[in-house]
Parts: sequence; structure tokens; C-alpha cells
Amino acid sequence: PRKVFSGIQPTGSLHLGNYLGAVRKWLQMQEQNSSDSITICIVDMHSITMPHNPPMLRDNIFTMAATLLACGIDPAKCTLFVQSAVLEHSELNWILSSLTTMPRLAQLPQFKEKSRQVRDVPLGLYVYPVLQAADIMLYKATHVPVGIDQLQHIQLAQHLARNFNGRYGELFPVCTPVIEQDDGSRVLSLRDVSKKMSKSDPNPKGTINLADSPEQIKEKIKKAVTDFTSDISYDPNTRPGVSNLVNIHAHVTNSSIATVVEEAKTLDTGRYKERVADAVIEHLRPIREQIDRHMANRKELSYMLEMGADRARQVAQQTMLEVKQRLGLGTYC
Ligand code: ATP
Ligand code: MG
Repeated sequence: PRKVFSGIQPTGSLHLGNYLGAVRKWLQMQEQNSSDSITICIVDMHSITMPHNPPMLRDNIFTMAATLLACGIDPAKCTLFVQSAVLEHSELNWILSSLTTMPRLAQLPQFKEKSRQVRDVPLGLYVYPVLQAADIMLYKATHVPVGIDQLQHIQLAQHLARNFNGRYGELFPVCTPVIEQDDGSRVLSLRDVSKKMSKSDPNPKGTINLADSPEQIKEKIKKAVTDFTSDISYDPNTRPGVSNLVNIHAHVTNSSIATVVEEAKTLDTGRYKERVADAVIEHLRPIREQIDRHMANRKELSYMLEMGADRARQVAQQTMLEVKQRLGLGTYC
């Protein structure tokens, strides 16, 4: 049986990229195989590595939990919890930070991209992938579903597991990233196709949030960047903007790219955008209703997350006991 771990930042509300690139994969795993254990962590400690607003972070944690439930994540089948509630994440982060090097972290693309956005680069932003490895390794995860943008971070986690096992004896599985290879898993910003759709994008117009109203979705898709060719075709390299819409359209209607393109034969980009917007709105409508329902009951959300943290803690504490024993830390005898 697989041990699946996934983390998601409560930086902003969940967007279509997270949904198609990550959450849909969690749902498939949750429904597929009941012997797999699935751990989903709202990684709030990762969210303080960039400038943040505390009341907003707290709100976003609840919004994230509500959204995941609305998408169909079932706390009876998955362990869903908030990272900062389980202290062992920080503890293992510290230990792992002695097992890798500064040059290795400095060349990671996410660090390069995000450090450009701030004047003084916080140490936390630099160590971010080490904390991410700690998240994965605490639960001895074997499979980590992620978007393609996280591949280098998963490779760092693999390196840390091998390094630990080599120095202190076999303890951690070397995890396998689970990435859809058909490329449907990478959703681009609607405004700048050189970037992926992202929660922390300062320009909200490029991102469709699951909680957006139908009007907002219409407006954002209408203004999505395309090109000067008016018919619809799929070629991510030469026509990234239109292809991004085709990709989104195929996913939300559960059709193939070919079907979607064939059905759009008679439409120009303007008309096609209306069709895509309608499909996205229809797909997200029930999810949005469920988000509102869960958000109206924060007490229940908080209780559910605490139950999840209890379950996570049991595994995490056991792992830390083993780690400290191997390293000669503490007064274990
Ligand atoms: P941030 O900008 O704060 O990093 P994000 O939008 O990149 O936020 P994360 O919380 O970092 O979202 O990632 C959650 C999951 O969603 C990860 O598995 C990530 O690979 C996936 N993901 C994020 N953005 C996209 C995207 N545009 N397309 C496909 N998958 C994505
Ligand atoms: Mg990210």
C-alpha cells in the first residue's frame, strides 16, 4: 500500500491550477484504493516565508479547509490537518537542514523566482524546500502528487532521504513524485503565459479561484491572453494562451483535448472564451455552494482539523523518536 503525502499552502484561496494539478489527483487516490493512506497538510508555516498578513492567513487556513472539503476530500478517508499544529515538522526541518548544502538550495527555480519578488530574501524562503522534505519524510511518504513545478523540490526530498539513510541507516523511503505526464497538470496564468497560475500572483486577474463568482470568472476568461489567430487549436508551444483555455475546458468537461478542439471548430476565440467560461462556471457552481456552507461553521472546521492533527501527530512523533535515536540526540537509553 502507498503512503501518499501532499501539502498545500493557505496563501490564497484554491485556484483552478491547484484543483486540476493537485486536488483532482488526491480525489482519485482517495476513491481508488482504500489501503493507501493519504495525508493532506495545509502548510501554513510555508506561507510565512513571504510577507503575509496574520488575520488573512488565519482566514485562508479555514478557507482552504472548507474548499478541500467542498471539492470532495473526505476526512474519514484522509488525514487532513494544519502543519503548525504538529510541532515535529519544525523539528525534522532543523535536522534535515544539516544534511544538505546551501548551493543546492540556491539553484532551485522556485527560490530564484520568489526571491526576485522581495528585496531582502528571508532565510525561511531559502530553507522552504527543506521544510517541505520534512513534511514528506515525517509520514514516510512513498508517493507525493504534485504539479510539475514542484519536481525539483521532490528531488531534494529524495536526496535528503538517501543521505539520511546512508549516514544513519535505512529509515526513510525515497518518495516518488506523482505527476501527470500529459501536461494537463500545468495550468498557466490567464494574463501571462510565461508563468503558471499561482495563488501568490500579485495580479489576481490571471488566476481563477474556485470561490470566484460567475461574473468574475466570465470577466477573467474574457480578458485571457490569446494570440492573433482566431480559430481554436491546441499547441502549447506556439499557442500557449489558447491551449491553456483548451486544457482547462477539457478538464472541466471531462473530455479529451481532441474532442474539445473538434467541437470548437466553428468558433472564433471570443465566442470560444464564452463557452469555456460557461463550462468552468457550471463545474465550479456546486463547489462554491459547499464552500459557503462549510465557511458558515468555523467551529466544526476547527474540530475536524484538530482531529486530523491528532492522527498526524501519532505518526510524526514515532518518526521523530526513531530519528533522534539514530542521530544520538537527547537522553534516550
Ligand atoms: P504559491 O504561489 O503560494 O506557491 P501555488 O499556487 O503555487 O501557491 P501551492 O500551494 O504552492 O500553490 O501548490 C499546491 C499544489 O498545487 C502543488 O501540488 C502544486 O504543484 C500544484 N499547483 C500549483 N499551481 C499549479 C498550476 N498552475 N498548475 C498545476 N498545478 C499547480
Ligand atoms: Mg507554489
